Amino acid sequence: MTQSNQPLIFELSKSGRTGCSLPDLDIETQPLDDLLPRSYQRNEPAELPEVSELQAVRHFTALSQRNHGVDTGFYPLGSCTMKYNPKVHEDIARFKGFAHIHPYQDSATIQGALEVMYRLQTSLAEITGMAEVTLQPAAGAHGEWTGLMLIRAFHEANQDYKRNKVIVPDSAHGTNPASAVVAGFEAVTVRTNERGLVDLDHLKELTGEDTAALMLTNPNTLGLFEEEIVEMAEIIHEAGGKLYYDGANSNAILGIARPGDMGFDVVHLNLHKTFTTPHGGGGPGSGPVGVKQDLVPYLPAPQIIKQADRYVFHYDIPESIGRVKPYYGNFGINVRAYAYIRTMGPAGLRKVSEFAVLNANYMLRRLEPYFDVPYSQHCKHEFVLSGKRQKKQGVRTLDMAKRLLDFGYHPPTIYFPINVEETMMIEPTETEAKEVLDEFCDAMIQIAKEAEDHPEIVQEAPHHTVIDRLDETKAARQPVLRYEKQ
Ligand SMILES: *Cc1c(COP(=O)(O)O)cnc(C)c1O
Repeated sequence: MTQSNQPLIFELSKSGRTGCSLPDLDIETQPLDDLLPRSYQRNEPAELPEVSELQAVRHFTALSQRNHGVDTGFYPLGSCTMKYNPKVHEDIARFKGFAHIHPYQDSATIQGALEVMYRLQTSLAEITGMAEVTLQPAAGAHGEWTGLMLIRAFHEANQDYKRNKVIVPDSAHGTNPASAVVAGFEAVTVRTNERGLVDLDHLKELTGEDTAALMLTNPNTLGLFEEEIVEMAEIIHEAGGKLYYDGANSNAILGIARPGDMGFDVVHLNLHKTFTTPHGGGGPGSGPVGVKQDLVPYLPAPQIIKQADRYVFHYDIPESIGRVKPYYGNFGINVRAYAYIRTMGPAGLRKVSEFAVLNANYMLRRLEPYFDVPYSQHCKHEFVLSGKRQKKQGVRTLDMAKRLLDFGYHPPTIYFPINVEETMMIEPTETEAKEVLDEFCDAMIQIAKEAEDHPEIVQEAPHHTVIDRLDETKAARQPVLRYEKQ
């Protein structure tokens, strides 16, 4: 993050310098006008930088290092689980038998790939306590929508057409109410109580004959475990609704608790969070959905099933909601997630969650004296601080996030969840060493002290990055994507 202001390639350009040498042309060429109509031809030669090969290499290497990733530094982005992506998974995903196959290939020739998908479905069903899993959805939000369409299909198959409402807590991930609306429901908000958990009385008030489902994130986005899940399940099931578990972030419960055992009917997972597959930058994700037996008839077709000792695409699912993704999901991501599950094994997955929770609680307690903590009970894999105290000094959470850039960190998630003022949502993950957690806490503590003694240092941050503070709205709405001479 704090690379030097190395000159860019255009600034290095010297007329006549070149990075390659080509032999003279010794074939006959057609006149340019025959190849390309005049109107498409340039009037002036393009202004390209003239640099040596080494300068070009340095330019692109420097650019690549201006980006922050898990491979370059700590990335405690709450709710996003930016954990290490083991490199051995990359090797496995590149095996010819995985990387070079074609979706239209006869299934007899891709038995290995189908076996991986089948085993992944089965493993995820076991991990979540569900009857069956579809691997088709391409992301968490896509999984949510798929799960809600399954619930919709279930109600409609029972001629139960009045269920048009999905209840979502105010602490939910923003995709939850959005998915409910896209799936044709109305999203209704249930409040959280003073302990940061779903307010059961309010839930009872909202639940009725029009309830299609309750969508719950657990641990919720405050990093807290919903303690009254069994009661919630009873309320919703008694009213004829279904329970949807947003398991995008399952880092606190692997091998410890299963949504299926808690009474949930549908769950989605983000393989690109909990199961180490790379994410960010819009890269391929995967949001498999698991369901209980009574929702199995509606799963997207095809499912991968095992017949005798062969794996096949099973299309004959008469009540299926249909395909939700071209082909069969993001296969390369499935391979990585399956490799992770097999490397860790059941005991290893449980350890993942134990360390993720330990790391988060360690940081919470180290930072507690310096920041407001809206909910002070033990957290799960992430926790929420409030910058209320610093705001009194004129330092906002946004300023502290920018100051963290000077220390070489990706800031935590800020201003989410929206039910806490000046929020910072910190998720360390299990893959970071204690020294990293300590160094980050030291930086946070230093920033809290700066906010007291020298607020301008924080207000004017970042000081050491290539580009200083951006107008974030303009950066998104009017991006400058071309080099412009200063
Ligand atoms: C990330 C996340 C989602 C959405 O997942 P995408 O893959 O970004 O669509 C949904 N719910 C929670 C709790 C999440 O953390």
